[in-house]
Amino acid sequence: MIQPICVYQVQPALALAGWVNSMLRPILIAIKADPVPIEFRPLGRWSGLSAGLPSFNPDGRIKISSLLLYKRRTELVQVVLHEIAHCLLDSIEVGIFHNHNAAFCCFYLILLRRADDAGIDTGNSTAHFFCISLYEHQNPIPHFEHLGSPESVWRPVEMQWIFEMADGYRDSELTAKEIAVAIHEAYFVFADRVADDAAKLASREKAIAQKRADEVALRQQLSDEKTFFKVGFFALLAAFFAIVYSIV
Ligand SMILES: [Zn+2]
Repeated sequence: MIQPICVYQVQPALALAGWVNSMLRPILIAIKADPVPIEFRPLGRWSGLSAGLPSFNPDGRIKISSLLLYKRRTELVQVVLHEIAHCLLDSIEVGIFHNHNAAFCCFYLILLRRADDAGIDTGNSTAHFFCISLYEHQNPIPHFEHLGSPESVWRPVEMQWIFEMADGYRDSELTAKEIAVAIHEAYFVFADRVADDAAKLASREKAIAQKRADEVALRQQLSDEKTFFKVGFFALLAAFFAIVYSIV
């Protein structure tokens, strides 16, 4: 006879909700975002999981590792902001996921800055670079990805865009959702611009290389012609003296 099936059910955690609300509601106000349902559960190696597709998660619940309840408060704040950034960005256009790309990193940075500006400790209030990490910016734009560009090429270009955009939205009155929409749109404009610039540069380099090749060919042609005339001249001279001596 087989063992009975174990069944689990996640219940609302009312006692925990009071503590979590007192900590996170000021953050939601600071970043100008609506509340997101949170489920604490053992997640193994993951600190948090975003809501994912509505068909699998109708109430848009984000999952946070229950281990974070026993760690520093700032770690929990960072993970919650990270998952909220996923939820807002990935809900804009069906089928488009900004999975740790420049748009995601930029939006997460903006949320961190808003929280910081409201006096909320996100772990490092002055050096945002240490709050975001290489984890938040893993995936280059399609142009660099298709070329297989090394990290030393794509990361500086994208980081500049990330910080410029984040600076631009620092004092914005827009809600987090409105900024997510703006970042989503700007990301594709940025990706197109980088691809266009690269194509123009490649075309310019090709034209320069062609011009150089043409110049080399022209010089060679002139050199060949000079040689021809020199040889012709001496041949004529030799013929002249041969005729003169033969007459004499
Ligand atoms: Zn993530």
